[in-house]
Amino acid sequence: MPRTRTILHVDLDAFFVSCELLRRPELRGKPVVVGGGHESHPGDLRQPGRGVVAAASYEARAFGVRSALPLGRALALCPELVVLPVEIAEYARISQLVFAIFAEFTPLVEPGSLDEAYLDLSGTEALTGSGVAAAQLISQRLDQELGLPCSVGVATSKIVAKVASDLRKPRGLVVVTPGEEAEFLAPLALERLPGAGPKTTAKLHLLGIDTLGKLASAPTRLLEETLGPNAGALQRRAQGVDPSPVHASGVPKSISREETYSQDLQARDELEDRIVILSAAVGSRLRASSLVARSVTIKMRFANFETVTRRRQLPEPSCADHELQAGALELFSESWSEAKAVRLLGVGGEGLTEFRQLSLFEEGGERDERLDVALDDLRGRFGGRSIARGTGSLDAPLDWNRDHLRPLTER
Ligand SMILES: [Mg+2]
Repeated sequence: MPRTRTILHVDLDAFFVSCELLRRPELRGKPVVVGGGHESHPGDLRQPGRGVVAAASYEARAFGVRSALPLGRALALCPELVVLPVEIAEYARISQLVFAIFAEFTPLVEPGSLDEAYLDLSGTEALTGSGVAAAQLISQRLDQELGLPCSVGVATSKIVAKVASDLRKPRGLVVVTPGEEAEFLAPLALERLPGAGPKTTAKLHLLGIDTLGKLASAPTRLLEETLGPNAGALQRRAQGVDPSPVHASGVPKSISREETYSQDLQARDELEDRIVILSAAVGSRLRASSLVARSVTIKMRFANFETVTRRRQLPEPSCADHELQAGALELFSESWSEAKAVRLLGVGGEGLTEFRQLSLFEEGGERDERLDVALDDLRGRFGGRSIARGTGSLDAPLDWNRDHLRPLTER
C-alpha cells in the first residue's frame, strides 16, 4: 500500500491587491482592483475604460466584481471602486519572498503561479509537526513577516488540497483527513474541481450530474460516452484519487513552442517543416534545462479558430530532436487534413523529468542526445538560428546536418 502523503496547497488571497495594500495601507477596507494601465479613484474624470480586472479585493467582490471582468463593467457595479495599475515586477519580487518561506518547510515546492504552490510535507512531519501545524505556521509567517493573507488546504493529494484551499477564502484553513477525501468532495458542485471546464460541466449537467459525488459514482462507461476517453481520469479526481507528484520548482510541467502565422499555412510540406523546427526548439530547451519529456504534444489552431491539441507518449523519455519530431509529425498526420488552413502551430514536451534521474543513455540514444547537445552548442556559437538537423532549418537554408556533426560526438 502506498504511503499516505501530506500535501498543502497554499494560495494567497487577492495577491496583487494584497501587494498593493502593503504600500497603500490607506486603501485597506475599500473596494480595490488591480487592472488596466493607470490609477483611478471614485469621481476621477479619466476612467480606465479598457482592460480587465486582474485581481479584486474582497470588498470589491461583495459588489460582484471579479477577475477577468472588463473595468468599465466593474465600475458600473461599484462606482466607489479604486483601480490600480498592474505592477507585475513588484508582485514577482514579493512572490520570491513568499517562496523563500515555503522553501524553509520542504524542498518539494511546486509553484502554480506567482501566488500559489503545492508543498509536499510527507516525511518532514517530524521537523514541522503535522501538516495542519505547518499550514498554520506558514499562514502566520506570511501574515506577520510579509503582511499577506493566504488560504491553505491540507490533504493527501494535490487535487484535494487545491479544492480545500479554495473553499473558505480568505484566510481559510481546510483540512481533509486521510480516507475522507471522497466524502469531503461529494457534496461540492462540479465547478469546484480543477479541470472540469464549462463545456465538461454543461455536458454533465445534462446527465443530471451536478455534484462531485454524483460524478464519482456515475457509471464510467456513460461518462466516457459523453466526455470521451479522459472521463475516467476526471472521475478519479472527483473520487479524490490523484497520485500526481509535487514537482519541485525547477522542473516545469511542460515546455512548448508555438507560432502564429500572419498568413495561414496550408501546404503539408510547409507545415511539416515548421513542426520539425518547433520540435528542435523544444528539444534544445529541454537539453538546456537537463530535462527529458515523456510525451510530445502538438497544438493546431485552424482558420476558423477551432483548436486541437494531441498528445503521444514517446517510446522512452527523451530530449532528442528526432524523437520529438517523429512523435509530433505522427500526431500531425493523424489530425490534419488537406482542407485545413492553420493559423497557429505549437509543439511541446510534457511529463518532464531531470535526465540524470533516468538510465536512458543506452546504445544509440546517448549518441543522438550528445549530437543534439553539439548542435545546440554550435547554434549558440554561430549566432544561433542557422543549424537544424534533418529536414527544415530555422531561418537560413540547411548548412549543417547530423552527418557533418557526427565526428564531433564520436570522440
Ligand atoms: Mg490566489
